[in-house]
Amino acid sequence: MDFDVIVVGGGPAGSFTAKHIAAQGFKVLILEEHDLVGEPVNCAGLLSRRAIELSGVSARIIINKLTGARVYSPLGACLELAGNHTWAAVVERSMFDQELAEQAQTDGAFLFTGARVKGLEPAPGGYLVSCSCRNGKDISFSTSLVIGADGAKSRVARCLNLKPGPYKASICAAETELSRTSADLADIFLGSELSPGWFGWIIPLDHKRCRIGAGHAFVKEAYSPRYYLEQLINRFPDHFRGIKIVRYTSGVVPMGLMPKIYAQHAMLVGDAACQTKPISGGGIYPGLRGAQICAAVAVQALQEDDFSQEKLALYQELWDKEFGSEIYSGISHRINYLDLNDHDIDTILRFLNKPFWQKTILEQGDIDFPSCLSSCLSTARPWKMKILKGMLGALNWGSDLKNSLKLHSADLKEEV
Ligand SMILES: Cc1cc2nc3c(=O)[nH]c(=O)nc-3n(C[C@H](O)[C@H](O)[C@H](O)COP(=O)(O)OP(=O)(O)OC[C@H]3O[C@@H](n4cnc5c(N)ncnc54)[C@H](O)[C@@H]3O)c2cc1C
Repeated sequence: MDFDVIVVGGGPAGSFTAKHIAAQGFKVLILEEHDLVGEPVNCAGLLSRRAIELSGVSARIIINKLTGARVYSPLGACLELAGNHTWAAVVERSMFDQELAEQAQTDGAFLFTGARVKGLEPAPGGYLVSCSCRNGKDISFSTSLVIGADGAKSRVARCLNLKPGPYKASICAAETELSRTSADLADIFLGSELSPGWFGWIIPLDHKRCRIGAGHAFVKEAYSPRYYLEQLINRFPDHFRGIKIVRYTSGVVPMGLMPKIYAQHAMLVGDAACQTKPISGGGIYPGLRGAQICAAVAVQALQEDDFSQEKLALYQELWDKEFGSEIYSGISHRINYLDLNDHDIDTILRFLNKPFWQKTILEQGDIDFPSCLSSCLSTARPWKMKILKGMLGALNWGSDLKNSLKLHSADLKEEV
């Protein structure tokens, strides 16, 4: 074999997987279609501290730190969630990817850029991976194990006949020049017509530059994501006054649990394996964890020279165990969200915009594992709120909330 492992795609999931396998002494090649790792960028670059710590990248890639967010309804309500500690960091995504690729090379992986993988051909003991290079020439490498880290539209997954994820968010985003009075809060915009099934955002980089985006998800009929971004800008003129679009980006976030993320002599990781969070669309943290799990199973397979489906199935088992319920619940919250009209959204935000709920959300909210908080909040439907005000003690959902938030009912009663 030319290489023990070939990783297709030099994004965060690919480089992180390659790093962990190469660190164990195996010969790993990363094939990246672009000349420069990390370019072009299609990401808002919002990461939790957990994700940054896990990645091991340097602090120089952090452009801004956010302490909270304001959530807007299309009818005028605003839920203010301004904390006093860092809730998320905004990173320079291309540098983030480049640092991870450097880490992989430091640990012994080879990186071949400008090499687009075209196909996989079964070969004795593995695969022959063919790619076309920038100079127009085609080249093939043999390997015992192919790892598809080639993103949302994974060619590796298609070559292996692995079914894609069941859902996706289609997003239009942009880098902009946009003045802000506060650079430490993100703005989130909800609305059934503004971003059906999804949300719009402004993420400040500093007082003069922001990343913005909007899109749609889980809806059968929708306009293009760009339409929703333009709607957002028009519907909230105060937020977007004087905006100058520097660069549009767009992309798709695959979501849900894929039936199978491995095959004989092959595994998928990152977006290719649908390792994303359905509530926010963030894929970097789950992709990095997926990479660690994938690499651990790959190392075992290499040590035992066993690349059978039975052996590699362990990867899916471990992934589902760690993230399965989070993804499942995220998807069900997203589907429930489709039932809310603009009036419901407005009522919920007004209801939550009180010190008790603000404090709860800031304390309990975890951008990597949002399902606990979202299950609590999704029960706060307007009709339930009305009943709650009169009959809190008798309601089951009151105790559900209490249990899941680990609150004392006295606190809850006092607030309501
Ligand atoms: C608009 C937008 C905003 C987002 N914002 C956030 C955010 O704020 N926070 C967050 O956590 N997540 C965010 N995400 C999701 C996040 O960008 C992805 O989950 C993440 O990039 C997945 O990493 P990956 O390594 O799996 O795939 P990718 O980053 O897509 O990397 C795949 C790599 O494979 C290469 N490749 C593809 N095909 C081939 C081929 N045939 N041959 C060789 N190379 C190939 C590509 O060039 C690319 O470098 C956002 C997504 C979008 C679309």
